[in-house]
Amino acid sequence: MGFCDFIVEFTAKKRNFQFPLWDSRPHEFPLRFLFTPLKGSLIYLIRNLLKCFTASDKPILQNSKLSYPKIKKKLLNKKENITVLFVDRLDLDRNFALLREEMEARGGISEDLRGWSWIKNSRVKPLSEFKLSVSEVTHRYCPTYRDIYLKRIAKVNAPPSIKTIRGIAYHEVFHEASLKIKQFIYNNKIISGGDLLSEFLPKLEEFSERIVSFSENRTFKLKQFEHDMLKRECYILYRYLIIQAASKIDAVLSKYRFINQESLVNEVLPSISEKKVDGSLVGFSKELSVDIYTPFNAIADIKTGDIRNFHRHILAAYALAIESSERIAVDFGMIIYVKTDLERQVPYFKIDYFIIGDELRIEALEFRDKSFEILTVAKDPGKPLQCPDYCPYFLYCNPQLAAMKALEYG
Ligand code: SF4
Repeated sequence: MGFCDFIVEFTAKKRNFQFPLWDSRPHEFPLRFLFTPLKGSLIYLIRNLLKCFTASDKPILQNSKLSYPKIKKKLLNKKENITVLFVDRLDLDRNFALLREEMEARGGISEDLRGWSWIKNSRVKPLSEFKLSVSEVTHRYCPTYRDIYLKRIAKVNAPPSIKTIRGIAYHEVFHEASLKIKQFIYNNKIISGGDLLSEFLPKLEEFSERIVSFSENRTFKLKQFEHDMLKRECYILYRYLIIQAASKIDAVLSKYRFINQESLVNEVLPSISEKKVDGSLVGFSKELSVDIYTPFNAIADIKTGDIRNFHRHILAAYALAIESSERIAVDFGMIIYVKTDLERQVPYFKIDYFIIGDELRIEALEFRDKSFEILTVAKDPGKPLQCPDYCPYFLYCNPQLAAMKALEYG
């Protein structure tokens, strides 16, 4: 075996596939090496070595049971693991596929319970002229609806707590980060994920401080340690969103060579943050704000506190409002629970996916009708046997109990 033959055979073995030359022209190979002049052999060898090192996937995949076109098709059809900043796209697709199947098995959503049925004599049609916010109707802490009476008739507002401030601050982080990322993409012709990081990471301290102060201005001034803690939480959440967006920008740019800014924004942030909705046709306020509106016939609400039974009803009310004003079906809901881990310095998300089905819609409409009844009668409905201590009116309705608890917990 000559040196050239050795190199060719060694390289072929090393790559673990049949050398392309032997595949296509087995009879030619020895003849070429015997009769081609030395210069020709060298060029031939170099060319084949180059082929060998720059070979495409095709020969490597030749042992697969699938043919190459099938493998290629399979690879192309594989869904990408691109996240919608904090929700994994694969998770979304999988969960919505399951919900869609379940919805079909249930026979879909009754036409009479769609928001657009307000025009007919259906359950959806409000029997009163009152317009209430979705939170007033669906935040059902109080079984007797005394909260509605206190707020609307007695004009007593629930005292805000640190949980309220945290809720405002986190929502502001989501909203502002989404807006700033979009603005940055539109304002800069050529950007990369790295550019986004360089632009925003040094400013996050300042952004977080401003967001906490803004939340305090709408509620009350926090103690210094609470202020610092909330600022740290906002910083971690903001940083996480910016890093996720930067990574997604690079993934999208690397996939699409000729993408424009509009398409890049749609790929990086496909959902609408804080969509404005007119809910007045179904008895809700004219200017509702839905946290996230996605192109999956789904809406989402961001929650920063504990899980409550009525959280799904909030989205049922928003679904009715969107369907009534825009005639777009909203079939699915997501409650995104966010907490920030100060030790690990990352936020974590727990997502509740569900169908906004008939039962939820009926219950949300019952909440609405009962709230209207309280406003029509305009009398204090009294307290329930036991008030949940997480009710925002707990201090107001139970001053002695609240004082005892304060003593108990120091
Ligand atoms: S504290 Fe009790 S009575 Fe007052 S609103 Fe809350 S649940 Fe109702």
